[in-house]
Amino acid sequence: GQCVAVCPTGALTVKPEVDRVWDAIHDPEKLVVVQVAPAVRVAIGEEFGLLPGEKATGQLVAALRKIGFDRVFDTLFTADMTTIEEGMELLGRLEKGGRLPLFTSCCPAWVKYAEQFHADLLDNLSTCRSPQQMFGSLVKKFYAREMGRTPEQVVCVSVMPCTAKKFEARRPEFTTGGVPDVDFVLTTLELARMIREAGIVFNELEPEMFDNPLGMGSGAAVIYGASGGVMESVVRFITAHRSAGDVGRVDFYPVRGIQGIKEAELEIGGQTLKLAVVNGLANAEKLIGRIKAGEVFYHAVEVMACPGGCLGGGGQPYPNNTASRLGRMKGLYSLDRAEQLHRPQDNIFVTRALERWFGGPANANTHQALHTRYYPRRRISGKPVELNGRRDERPV
Ligand code: SF4
Repeated sequence: GQCVAVCPTGALTVKPEVDRVWDAIHDPEKLVVVQVAPAVRVAIGEEFGLLPGEKATGQLVAALRKIGFDRVFDTLFTADMTTIEEGMELLGRLEKGGRLPLFTSCCPAWVKYAEQFHADLLDNLSTCRSPQQMFGSLVKKFYAREMGRTPEQVVCVSVMPCTAKKFEARRPEFTTGGVPDVDFVLTTLELARMIREAGIVFNELEPEMFDNPLGMGSGAAVIYGASGGVMESVVRFITAHRSAGDVGRVDFYPVRGIQGIKEAELEIGGQTLKLAVVNGLANAEKLIGRIKAGEVFYHAVEVMACPGGCLGGGGQPYPNNTASRLGRMKGLYSLDRAEQLHRPQDNIFVTRALERWFGGPANANTHQALHTRYYPRRRISGKPVELNGRRDERPV
């Protein structure tokens, strides 16, 4: 079918994902929830005549409700949760002398690349699940129960700028008892197709708000969609976390922009942290080469596979060029400025959820639901091999 062309693993062969999402929406037995990644909101408008980066969040929410999703939630919620868990992980490694640099792990294309080509670095990767997968885990493990439903009765759909997120959602680690945490992943372009199929006039929609409690995010979560955004969010978290009473810093410009490799230093608690941000796997390869050769040292490294970060993802509208990426990037940072909250720990929906479901952040309970493991993947004569779409060398 036409799906094979866009599916990175070929595992989807029968019905296009869009049609399967329509089926779920039309199934009266199912509660269908949707989460939307940050980078989608500054790009989907391009499919309906808006400029890259032009604000369309409210119309996007309205369109998702009109399409028939029962709850319209925001991946921003779990982006804030990711920052808190990952920030705590970085602080823990700094204090206890753990593996450094800490590499971010929310880009599945980077994670898979590390599994194939840099298995010796897998212990450096943050154990945090990506925001998409934290979201799916929360929906199936906690939200479903609170709604009086079983995990099977709740369908979790993601809208992502990314085709690799489809692969991530099918990783066996993110399936419990045969039920995936995230059932379907739509790209920005696929959602635009659904909006057209539903006959919705996007530009004429009255803006609407996300549902709660899983629909609230800080400005730190919005900027996840841009290269450097995860690092800046972690900086916002740890500076405020480490200096009680002080609000910490918010804008952290050295990690912003679309250049391939960015470096920054952060003074914190009498220590100078060395940070690096890369986008594009060729740039990651360059940086890893320098790290392994001992030419450079960093405490933390953010890696995104796409140029400019997720805003330049493979599921975004065309043209997906430097001009449109710069527009989307500007859009994300202006959304951050417009938010009332700029640090993940100020998002009380997130801190309350961490308290209620796990007894607080970064403990044994969050480890089960919000973290993961990585596995070396098989290669033959230097080339990566996909077996059955997702087989690898992990223990059975
Ligand atoms: Fe997906 Fe690209 Fe973002 Fe990685 S950087 S998560 S591949 S959109």
